Amino acid sequence: MPIPEPLFDDLYREIILDHYRRPRNRGSLPEATYRLEGVNPVCGDEIHLDLEIEDGRIAAIAFDGQGCSISQSSASMLTDQLKGRTIDEADRIRKKFKAMLMEGAEPDPEIGDLEALQGVAKFPVRVKCALLSWNVLQGGLQQAGVPA
Ligand code: ZN
Repeated sequence: MPIPEPLFDDLYREIILDHYRRPRNRGSLPEATYRLEGVNPVCGDEIHLDLEIEDGRIAAIAFDGQGCSISQSSASMLTDQLKGRTIDEADRIRKKFKAMLMEGAEPDPEIGDLEALQGVAKFPVRVKCALLSWNVLQGGLQQAGVPA
């Protein structure tokens, strides 16, 4: 059975495709504090995430990977939204994004473009795609001292 494809309204679809085609902060960081990776075997998505953390702040962030447009655009939006944030802010945004996808919470303004992925919430199998980079991030934030 094919993996279900959420239908997004035009504005949201534009945002998702824009991040998919022109990913922000794609690459790797020579001075990375943490190098993380994760896979979503259900869909075949892969994410590598490099974090450079200085004094509790994400000084630089980069990702690389392959997979569906939802997984890759979510990772691009993640880097866009979290660059320069403290690790506590990053974890708060991670929780707000996850609450939107898993609990049907209304999108919080702090999540920015990630609001475009709200429609994924109705498709649990695709929620794994959208959350892949965020679960990878969570591992890094915890290594940096954010409570589990
Ligand atoms: Zn996927």
